[in-house]
Amino acid sequence: MKISEILQSGRVSFSCEIFPPKTGTDIDHVDEVIDGIAALSPSFISVTYGASGSTSKTTASICEKVMARGMTPIAHMTCLSSTRDEVHTYTEKLTALGVENVFALRGDRPAGVTEPGPGQYRYASQLVTELAALDRFCIGGACYPDGHVEAHDKAEDIAHLKEKVDAGCSFLTTQMFFDNDVMYSFLYRAVKAGIHVPILAGIMPLTTASQYARSAQLSGTPLPPRLRSIYDKFKDRPRALREAGIAYATEQIIDLVANGVQGIHIYTMNRPENAADIFKNIAYIRKTKI
Ligand code: FAD
Repeated sequence: MKISEILQSGRVSFSCEIFPPKTGTDIDHVDEVIDGIAALSPSFISVTYGASGSTSKTTASICEKVMARGMTPIAHMTCLSSTRDEVHTYTEKLTALGVENVFALRGDRPAGVTEPGPGQYRYASQLVTELAALDRFCIGGACYPDGHVEAHDKAEDIAHLKEKVDAGCSFLTTQMFFDNDVMYSFLYRAVKAGIHVPILAGIMPLTTASQYARSAQLSGTPLPPRLRSIYDKFKDRPRALREAGIAYATEQIIDLVANGVQGIHIYTMNRPENAADIFKNIAYIRKTKI
């Protein structure tokens, strides 16, 4: 099923994420993760793509496993380190498997690389244009309520986001953010810029001390003082820290749904138990109409 159809169901969508194991690690664990997530009946499951395309085969095969369990997957795909031929091969593979949704990304620039090689992509919008021309996929794109780390300012970032949407994105999913006011301000600016596709809120439950350090470092998303206090108080008490992280994410989600957000995407980090605890807290809220 296409995600654009799911998003037209009139209900708030709740999606989860799986990332492929690194090459050489145990792929069997992924089956457990897929089962754990499928048991939560998310609206769809996104399957990420390793940096520089390192997991393209695994991403496709996890999508296959998701579909075998009767769920809808969206295959992530980055283009920065790919040639047009590699992109073509991957999209043909996804089509052969019956995958109908692609999340089109640029990918992070490897350190020291500023210019693409000959025939390579520079921005995700180029990939979106090519995928849209195939006329087979529902295409999603990434967006950044706090601004993308490379953008000079938020206005420029949103102008490029508009180009990406116009190239053929049916919906956007945000980078994680921890302050809902940042999201509301972003939604306002997006509408003002003429972006009218559904924007799904990316929520990352911070449940371990190492996640606090990594999430801020990887996403460029600042921690609000309230979350900082949680970390300071509970960082040496793993269970308390996890409990507070689940409660914080739950509260964020309730506020977002109450204020009309169309979809919630949980950065599950291959820990279905975290999404399960959040979903337990919002069993009735999950049935909310948009
Ligand atoms: P783009 O949309 O190309 O934007 C990148 C930067 O270029 C922005 O600063 C933008 O303002 C600027 N820009 C765009 N167009 C122009 C233009 N015409 N002129 C000048 N500047 C321009 N990474 C992975 O490797 N695998 C994943 O599976 C993955 N999943 C993700 C899922 C989500 C929801 C998000 C938010 C990110 C994900 N990422 C993933 C990370 C992503 O690859 C990086 O954030 C990357 O740096 C940017 O990708 P993008 O698709 O947003 O790029």
